[in-house]
Amino acid sequence: MGDVATARRGTNLPRMGDFNRSVIFDAIRRAPEGRSRVELVEMSGLSTQTVSNIARWLLEQELVVEAGKERAGIGKPRTLLRLNRTGMFAVGVHIDPAVMTFVVLDLVGGVVAHSRRRTPKANRPERVMALIHDGIEQLIADSEVPRDKIVGVGVAAPGPIDQERGTIVDPPHLVDWHRVPLRDALETSTGLPVLVDKDVTAAAVAETWAGGASGAGSFVFVYLGTGVGAGLVVHDELMRGVSGNAGEVGHIVTDPEGPVCWCGQRGCVAVTCTPQAMVEEAERAEVIPETRHAATLLRDARDVDAQFTRLCRVAAGGDAAAGDILNRAAEHTARAVAVLTNLLDVDRVVFGGPMWQRVSERYLERIPPHLDAFSATGALRRVPVVGTGVGDDVGAIGAACLVLERTFTPSAARLLLAH
Ligand SMILES: [Zn+2]
Repeated sequence: MGDVATARRGTNLPRMGDFNRSVIFDAIRRAPEGRSRVELVEMSGLSTQTVSNIARWLLEQELVVEAGKERAGIGKPRTLLRLNRTGMFAVGVHIDPAVMTFVVLDLVGGVVAHSRRRTPKANRPERVMALIHDGIEQLIADSEVPRDKIVGVGVAAPGPIDQERGTIVDPPHLVDWHRVPLRDALETSTGLPVLVDKDVTAAAVAETWAGGASGAGSFVFVYLGTGVGAGLVVHDELMRGVSGNAGEVGHIVTDPEGPVCWCGQRGCVAVTCTPQAMVEEAERAEVIPETRHAATLLRDARDVDAQFTRLCRVAAGGDAAAGDILNRAAEHTARAVAVLTNLLDVDRVVFGGPMWQRVSERYLERIPPHLDAFSATGALRRVPVVGTGVGDDVGAIGAACLVLERTFTPSAARLLLAH
C-alpha cells in the first residue's frame, strides 16, 4: 500500500507529534505580530485547556516565545505568543545545473547564512555529493548555529524526483546521474535528517513561509530556471500529487505552429518558454552570437545562463528582434499559465526562480493583459501577477522551508495518515 511508504518516509524528521499542535503552531507562525491564547482558541475551535497545554509545550520546546501583551477592550491584557526565531534552524540546498546554493534558515524563514558554489561540470555523482556535503558542513560552521538546533537538510533539484527513495531521477542536465541515492548518502555523511524535493515545489513552499502577502491563500508559482515548472498552493497547502511530482508543465502546448518538441508535439512550453529555447531562437536569428556549444538537448546550463543574460541585455538596450523573442516567450508563458489558473482558480500568479530577475520587468508588464485575454473568468476578475517576495535564492530557501513545513505544518494528508 502506497500510504505505508508515505508514513514511513515521514518519520525521518522530528514531528510535532500531534495534529492540534501543528494547527496552533501554524496559526502562530502566520501572525508575525503574535497571537494570544484567546485568539488561538477562537481560530482553532479547540478548548482553552487544550490550547493552554499546547502553548506550554511549544514554550518548553523553545519554538515560541511570549512577546509582550495586547490590551483588547476591558479586562486583563493578553499575552502574545510569537515564533522563537532562533528556536530551530534548517539547512537548504538547491542543486541547479549551473550553480549550487546553500542556506541556513531560522524558524521564521530568515536567512542566517548563505553560500554558492558552481555545479561541477563533470557530473560524477560521488564528486557532486562530496561537494554538497562539504558545502553543508562549511555553512553550518560559518553560521555558528548549534547542530542540535538544526532540524534537517532539504535538497531541491530539478524534477522528476523519486520521493520514496530520495533520489533525483535522471535529471536532464546532470548527465551521469541515474537514480543516485542522494538522501541516504547525505543522511549518512551529515548525520542529519534529509529530504529531497523538486525545486519548483521548494520555491512554492518558500513563498508560503517567507514570501509575505504573495505567499498566502491559493497561488501558482511559476518557476523560471533551466526549465519552466509550476508549484501549486491551494488554500495554504501545497499540492504535491501522489508521487510528489505535480506541476510538470513543460509539455503544455502554447503554440501549435511552434518548433517540434522532443515529446513529439509542437510548440510546448519546453521549446517556447524556456531560457534555452529563447537563446537558441536568438542565435538562429543572429540576434546574439552563437557560442561554440552546439544546440543540443543537453546543452551546458552555464552556457545557456550566460547567453540568456546576453539576450536580455541586448533586448534592454532596445534591440527590436531581441525584444520580440522575449515578448513572444512572455505571451506563450501567459498561455501556459492561463491553463493552470483556469484549472485551479487561484488568488494570484507568483513568478520566481534563478532566471526570473532578468525578465521580471518585461514579464510583469506583458503577461497580465495576455492572461486576462486567455482567462475563463476574465469578465469576473483579473488574476494578479507578482514577482516572488523571496528573491533569487528561492530554491535553496524553499528546500530549507520544506524541512520546516514537513516538521511543523498541519496537513489533511498527515491527519489521515495519523489515524
Ligand atoms: Zn513537449
